[in-house]
Amino acid sequence: MDLQGKVEEYYRLTKRQKSALEKLRIFTVEDLLRHLPSRHENLAGAKLVADAVPRETASFFGQIVSVEKRLSWKTRKYVVEATFQDKSGELQLMWFNQVYIEKMLQNKPFVKVTGKLTGKRKLYIANPNLEFLPSLPEFIDGESEEFMPVYGESAGITSRWFYHAIRRALSEIDPDALQDPVPSKILQKYNLPSLYQALVWAHFPKKESQKTAATKRFAFEEVFALQTLKQSQKEALRKEKSASIKVDDEALAKLQDFVKSYGFELTGAQKRAIDELVQDFAKPYPAQRLLEGDVGSGKTAVAAAGAFLVYSSKSDGNKYKSLQTAYMAPTEILANQIFDDFIKFFENYNLKIALVTSSGCKIFPSKTEKGATKISCTQVKKWIKEGIVPIVVGTHSLIFKSVEFENLSFVIVDEQHRFGTMQRAKLSRKDGARPHFLSMSATPIPRTLALTIYGDLELSVLDELPAGRKEIKTKIVRKSARSKVYDFIKEELKKGRQAYVICPRIEEPDPEKANALRAKSVEEELKRLQTEVFTDYKLAPLHGKMKPKEKDAIMQKFVNGEIDILVATSVVEVGVNVPNATSIIIEGAERFGLSQLHQLRGRVRRSTHEAYCFLFTESSSQKTMERLKALEQSRNGFELAESDLKLRGPGDLYGSKQWGLSDIGMQALQNLKMVEYARKEALKLVKQDPELKSAPILKDKISKIEKSLHLE
Ligand code: ADP
Ligand code: MG
Repeated sequence: MDLQGKVEEYYRLTKRQKSALEKLRIFTVEDLLRHLPSRHENLAGAKLVADAVPRETASFFGQIVSVEKRLSWKTRKYVVEATFQDKSGELQLMWFNQVYIEKMLQNKPFVKVTGKLTGKRKLYIANPNLEFLPSLPEFIDGESEEFMPVYGESAGITSRWFYHAIRRALSEIDPDALQDPVPSKILQKYNLPSLYQALVWAHFPKKESQKTAATKRFAFEEVFALQTLKQSQKEALRKEKSASIKVDDEALAKLQDFVKSYGFELTGAQKRAIDELVQDFAKPYPAQRLLEGDVGSGKTAVAAAGAFLVYSSKSDGNKYKSLQTAYMAPTEILANQIFDDFIKFFENYNLKIALVTSSGCKIFPSKTEKGATKISCTQVKKWIKEGIVPIVVGTHSLIFKSVEFENLSFVIVDEQHRFGTMQRAKLSRKDGARPHFLSMSATPIPRTLALTIYGDLELSVLDELPAGRKEIKTKIVRKSARSKVYDFIKEELKKGRQAYVICPRIEEPDPEKANALRAKSVEEELKRLQTEVFTDYKLAPLHGKMKPKEKDAIMQKFVNGEIDILVATSVVEVGVNVPNATSIIIEGAERFGLSQLHQLRGRVRRSTHEAYCFLFTESSSQKTMERLKALEQSRNGFELAESDLKLRGPGDLYGSKQWGLSDIGMQALQNLKMVEYARKEALKLVKQDPELKSAPILKDKISKIEKSLHLE
């Protein structure tokens, strides 16, 4: 069998199977081999109901078809009784004094049950061990393995098909023809199995340890390849020319005066970040930096300091033309807010600042009035092109699509981590120089994820909040205390404050459907609150089904104080500053990751008044309580991101696809050591051999990853 041969050349496929394989992007035999199982079912001791024998302990795979609860007249205790079914027959299950089980079995789940069979005529299992399954494994009669591979679901093709097809492929290919992207020296150094060995172990492990070793190897391969990609991109950028921004003593002294005019003392973290920006500007190649910091940590002030240095570097001695900065915000409202912030920062300096959005353009200073004024976009763009507007604020797309700069030297992107290398590459200037680049994010992510996906960026972290910032009072609220919280919020509203209500997180693989479900839950909650709780106040919805224009309009009304309570989904990112909003209720808090909860509560952090976050939960499991308690106590988003990673695993939290990592790759992020090793080896390789001449297979793999990332 030829690894690069088409699957259909070797296997007879139905039309449905063909299209299923296509959907899974499996074309060649090698693709097939690399289609790893999503899990293994442990079939040791598994039986069909028809073969069950009394007094034996066994496992069964099937479905719960009915469940009920009754009070036993003898013991005066509750009994939950369920009927379990597999393709051969039915079995009764019973639990004593565990009423909660009834709820868990309501939706006819697939389960694996294990226990000792009792009864004579009718067999049952008392207090069986239950394991919930996403789907049922197929029994491969006569040749059941202890670990049966279960492959990702796709209509038209079964795990059974994969099982046989991969078995055959593994025995018919030439193991030496497998091209391993990981250099063998590195495999040896870290004691990782060869590609062939790992494939055998990943699909058909005999022991748990083989599965682990194979997973580790594929995870290493993935993280290593991604790191190598990022490092070579970084290396390539170092050969580019950047705009030269003056950072001599005179410029730095002026910068000192500039930040003094802020009217507040910079935090130590802000000073460090500004210092790092200055170092960036001093380099001959374009900088790529990520500034991470919680909401309210003062990222704008850091960005403004950078913009100031750029502005004070006049271009070619022409005193009317300075180097230019573009600041890109994700929404119009944010762009407006940043524009206002920058006007305040630069009030005492005689320079033009422009705002470019789809609903119009503004310029500061105004000839006729105090502050900024509306102006025709054609005029503003002309000035920008001539180079007499040093700072331009706008939304991502606008700045990209239609604005030309004379001297663009510094690009700031707010809240958009996915601003790719491709897009960055477009931003070169006429003279071939590339602007420096600063990306800002309030999304705390664990260190391993940052190292992997932002491997091409330098990192600055604002891990300190400005002095005197109040802590948000966070409280876990049970059902019985809800009305108290509503009363409390009414008191706040009476004082003229505003509030957010966040609806529970709804997970649903189909994005269309997910949006619709979330919209529905927002509308329903809104109606309930409006008619039953906050009857005298103005409530409004915010969710992903709304058009960007509608969202902006509602947000603007909320900013203006025309709306008292915003009922929203968590997916609607609100980085907007509404200092008058003092309370946030998060419904179904247990469904969120800690760092996401932390971010949500950050929305009331801007308040100058005392701020409150209420975590509504109906779960009373100890684990949930522990997690939520961590939030009551911690105020550091990065710490919370790390504990999320430990407690819940990464895939669940960050979604793997957008980073170009598979589930295995995401899992690997829990292993800091491994990520660091992969990074070390990638760095070493790229330093020694930037063109990757010595590793052609790796190079090939990397260009594939690059393409797939660009396709998004
Ligand atoms: P974010 O990091 O969320 O973008 P901002 O830059 O919008 O935060 O800052 C939030 C608020 O804190 C702004 O009103 C800003 O003027 C203020 N601020 C920033 N840095 C400091 C500081 N060192 N001391 C006091 N206030 C500060
Ligand atoms: Mg901000």
